[in-house]
Amino acid sequence: MTPLDVKQDFPILTQTVNNHPLVYLDSAATAQKPQMVIDAIETYYKYDNANVHRGVHTLGQRATDAYEGARETVQQFINAPHSKEIIFTRGTTQAINIVARSYSEKFIQPGDEIVLTPMEHHSNLLPWQQVAKRTGALLKFIPLEKDGTLSETAVKQTITDKTKLVAITHVSNVLGTINPIKEITTYAHEMGAVVLVDGAQAVPHMKVDVQALDCDFYAFSGHKMCGPTGIGVLYGKKQWLNQMDPVEYGGEMIDFVELTDATWKELPWKFEGGTPIIAGAVGLQAAIKYLENIGLDKITAHEKMLTDYAMEQLKQLDGVDIYGPTERCGLITFNLKDVHPHDTATVLDSYGVAVRAGHHCCQPLMKWLNVTATARASFYLYNTIEDVDRFIDGLKQAKEFFGDVF
Ligand code: PMP
Repeated sequence: MTPLDVKQDFPILTQTVNNHPLVYLDSAATAQKPQMVIDAIETYYKYDNANVHRGVHTLGQRATDAYEGARETVQQFINAPHSKEIIFTRGTTQAINIVARSYSEKFIQPGDEIVLTPMEHHSNLLPWQQVAKRTGALLKFIPLEKDGTLSETAVKQTITDKTKLVAITHVSNVLGTINPIKEITTYAHEMGAVVLVDGAQAVPHMKVDVQALDCDFYAFSGHKMCGPTGIGVLYGKKQWLNQMDPVEYGGEMIDFVELTDATWKELPWKFEGGTPIIAGAVGLQAAIKYLENIGLDKITAHEKMLTDYAMEQLKQLDGVDIYGPTERCGLITFNLKDVHPHDTATVLDSYGVAVRAGHHCCQPLMKWLNVTATARASFYLYNTIEDVDRFIDGLKQAKEFFGDVF
């Protein structure tokens, strides 16, 4: 395959950091933004900015068209059947919290079971802990295999006819595991449970089709897919969203208001109380167009090429623990033996290489891995083979600081 050559589209990547050209390997935390996205937001604020849905004036109409147009772009991008099933949120976290509050209030009873995995990001764990406390439901966890994957047997042993909801990540932000969502939704539906998928680490990197997955809810964030921060998406099947109540009440989401009662708008607006994140939606739309112009399949293949190459290089170094399965998405979580990951990341930063270190919002998974923290290098469409070489060189340089580890 021909590797992608798009670094020049990202102004931030042309700088030097600590006197070295920047190598950004922290896209799983947040991705950088191409000029096209920055321009779309600037153009919106320069020429079209107004509040949406009620302006009779021209700018109000333009802003509304931009905002609702972005919704249709998202709908097509994930192949949702209806644009009313696309709710704009602040990000994955808010999207999951909406379902946890609203769905569980209607449908979860004491003794019902909610199934998760130990690899969930805190954003897909804490909301369900709260649901369990509020409703008397029980949390169950599908045990992980040694390599950090889920076996069919474990899935089928954990999801039962007592399960009301399965909340699971599509791709692990630590292990890189890609979970078999379609198989899980099929089995969960047989058992009478609905499935919410945390797609924060999937949508930026692979083609996602919510109808093919047949999930009931799917959540993701704009900022991890070249869009701005502060915008995300909750997709939900309208059969569920229509039955669910809003979680935030106020302007924009109402139909009629009297002093002591009110009625709401229909989907999706009943879940979008207050002035929405208009410029964020415009930026997200530009990001989707940017990714689609390149092609999600090409992005997936490019990241795989970088990850395979980085794995090969890492395996040639002694004293590196790598976590997660062989089949993985474009990130590598690792530790240098006897070196704290914060120290590893600090040395790499001094060479202009940005990686993440810490628990990655997955403290229970750190416990499962029997570590307190790890380092993580994550790749995206703008990374190159040279970036991987700089990363490996940086790790070798770390040896200068921390003794003869390798
Ligand atoms: N789930 C996963 C798997 C993630 O990686 C993240 C972000 N690190 C989130 C949820 C939360 O996303 P956000 O902070 O954008 O709401």
